[in-house]
Amino acid sequence: MKMRAAVLDGVGSKFQVRELDLDKPKSKELLVKVAASGLCASDLNAIDGKRKLVPFPAVIGHEAAGVIVELGADTPGFAVGDHVIMSIVPHCDTCDYCKSERPNYCSTAGDAMSVGGLFDGTSRLTHNGEKVNHFLTVASFAEYVVVPASGAVVISKEMPLDRAALISCAVLTGYGAVMNTAKVRPGSRVGVFGCGGVGLNIIQGARLAGATTIIAIDLTEEKLAIARKLGATHTINATSCAPEVEVGKICGGLDYAFEALGRESTIQSAWASVDVDGGLILVGLMKNGATLTLDAGPFVNEQWIKGCYFGSANLKRDVEKLVKSYLDGSLFLDELISERIDLESLDLAFDRLRAGQGARNVLVFD
Ligand SMILES: [Zn+2]
Ligand SMILES: [Zn+2]
Repeated sequence: MKMRAAVLDGVGSKFQVRELDLDKPKSKELLVKVAASGLCASDLNAIDGKRKLVPFPAVIGHEAAGVIVELGADTPGFAVGDHVIMSIVPHCDTCDYCKSERPNYCSTAGDAMSVGGLFDGTSRLTHNGEKVNHFLTVASFAEYVVVPASGAVVISKEMPLDRAALISCAVLTGYGAVMNTAKVRPGSRVGVFGCGGVGLNIIQGARLAGATTIIAIDLTEEKLAIARKLGATHTINATSCAPEVEVGKICGGLDYAFEALGRESTIQSAWASVDVDGGLILVGLMKNGATLTLDAGPFVNEQWIKGCYFGSANLKRDVEKLVKSYLDGSLFLDELISERIDLESLDLAFDRLRAGQGARNVLVFD
């Protein structure tokens, strides 16, 4: 079929809206009409070349929700008309990681992503007969996508699809970092360094986990104001202060410091804010090949550091829980969307993300 998509020809290039050919779904794949796709820092990392995530030319975008229009063979549990969120963690069920119950590290999916394909390594996207690559098996800056069924989760039709899109990456990552990676205990002191799409969801995860002190740290008052709505009890504008000093004044030190930017200086500041027995969770992705220098002194106080990928999420279980939480009013998503945009406005919207303005920009289709 023919459809419109925003194609990126290389690192640093502008988006080109082109009419592409999209092949039919193969076995264990779904054809989905995209309703919404959030603009995430991982998209920006691919555009700016901070991380090497996909060969070009490629259709990027990965935080998506839509409606199934066609089923490939062997797709039990899905029906045409189902609403789904699509994620970057499809799984093959046969590799060593899948068999050891770590499907988020599926090596078949990893291999497919590195060549810009789906699970068989091939692409369903072409432009004038030339291959175009899929980003992280989703490629959702497009009217339609073909995705692995194992990366999709059927959701309630009551759930608005633009807000559902956010669940598929930013919310799962932030909420999961709190609930699954760190397992934050009620009554804890939590600090969140960087209040972008993921950081704001760490804040609301901390609220839902029962943390009693939740400190949001960012450089913009706009994001700190949203952080307060989502559950921050205190905010620190780090433009002209050392956040670790301010954290000390507020609560002595943190039980959990989450870093959501992937910057060495912020990680050092987060590490300096941790109290004895507390930990630093690295949620923000650093540039390929980056190194870190940290004060080793706190290890004697049993302070710890943990990495985090995709909020250690259990895709199906966590998506169902989050949709239910939105519908019962306990998960806040409306506050997270700062702009709804079209395919032609992606460059401008990524400029806003690069500048740290606003919360989430979401590409929406009619
Ligand atoms: Zn993302
Ligand atoms: Zn696998």
